[in-house]
Amino acid sequence: MPDHVFGRSTRGALPVAVAGDGCYLIDREGKRYLDGSGGAAVSCLGHSDPDVRAALHAQIDRLAFAHTGFFTTDAAESLADTLVAHAPAGIERVYLVSGGSEAVEAAIKLARQYFLEIGEPRRHRVIARRQSYHGNTLGALAAGGNAWRRRQFAPLMVETSHIAPCYEYRDRLPEESAEAYGLRVADELEAEIQRLGPDTVMAFIAEPVVGATAGALPAVPGYFRRIREICDRHGVLLILDEVMCGMGRTGHLFACEEDGIAPDMITIAKGLGAGYQPIGALLASGRIYDAIAAGSGFFQHGHTYMGHPMAAAAANAVLGAILGRGLLPRVREQGARLQSALEAALSQHPHVGDIRGRGLFRGVELVADRETKAPFDPALGVHRKVKALAFEAGLICYPMGGTIDGQRGDHILLAPPFIIEDTQIDELVSKLSGAIRQAVA
Ligand code: PMP
Repeated sequence: MPDHVFGRSTRGALPVAVAGDGCYLIDREGKRYLDGSGGAAVSCLGHSDPDVRAALHAQIDRLAFAHTGFFTTDAAESLADTLVAHAPAGIERVYLVSGGSEAVEAAIKLARQYFLEIGEPRRHRVIARRQSYHGNTLGALAAGGNAWRRRQFAPLMVETSHIAPCYEYRDRLPEESAEAYGLRVADELEAEIQRLGPDTVMAFIAEPVVGATAGALPAVPGYFRRIREICDRHGVLLILDEVMCGMGRTGHLFACEEDGIAPDMITIAKGLGAGYQPIGALLASGRIYDAIAAGSGFFQHGHTYMGHPMAAAAANAVLGAILGRGLLPRVREQGARLQSALEAALSQHPHVGDIRGRGLFRGVELVADRETKAPFDPALGVHRKVKALAFEAGLICYPMGGTIDGQRGDHILLAPPFIIEDTQIDELVSKLSGAIRQAVA
């Protein structure tokens, strides 16, 4: 019988998920999988949250859908209010979409429309970083640093160039302080803007903590403050992609809070719907929206399902849980516990180069040689082996590896639900360590 879902062969090749129970997913055979990565940093409340389920039941009993061309809804209005109330300074507008790529796509188009309306039509270029993923739609794909993903669809419509990420473990010089390194690497943005011509650059986009492509890689202190200064100096908009690292994942509702900066736009998704509904949002400064309101009047963009009442109801319940149940301090606490447990189990391992991250967003970088930090030969597919062995043992983790251009090694990303218990952290670390030991034995 042919397969009809997911566009690739799945029937028989993948287990069939039938239920969720807190931090676990359960397949048709009754096997339980500890969700050590929340899928891909999605399931921040686990898989059976009573409040989100109740909110969804209540919403569907009241209203399933009302098109935004005709109506607004209490669910969408209240979601936007909550996001703005907790967003960094200057963020005053919310544009609801259905996922991360749509949020990034909207950010790029909003930047372009803004510069057209304020009379700077030459500004069309985007600068991003080599170690980055911003989504799979055409604009978001163009922004991402992954040359392998972009190459097969080139030429892409958004003109993007890429600078180095802030990657302390690999690129900080032995005699250099973390701060000096941060400034040095941030100054690549200045050089790139100069190379392209400042009046042609519209935006710089980056993840505060790089997720999928680098295994929970935070910037060193001071890096983003310098990036903000450079953007301001040249009138370039700063877009922070918090699709993975936002919504409490790092122990702060917005990851950029810890970097002490306010961007012009923030994209969020994944944890906002927590897997209960597909939803994303573009958060933008009042300044950008006001300029457009004073010009053509409205952002020339839109999707049928934007601001969907069911999605907004789920997101309201998710935010209610994160903010109302004290989950942000819990993420910081359990995140520190996870980091210590990973270090205790793996820091002496000959093929573990770095263990890093913030909150419940952690990465383990695997290397062929700890001294030289040489990555494994991509042909070995070490990250895929770890994924398969962990999965076999009943652990879901999110690996990425050196087979893709712009990446320099194998990483395992961990992003468990915020409700993870101490014993489940032990289970996660024990199963992951076992898988790593077997994979690189
Ligand atoms: N930005 C980042 C940082 C992401 O990690 C992702 C998804 N992995 C996206 C954007 C795209 O999100 P989506 O898959 O929901 O379109």
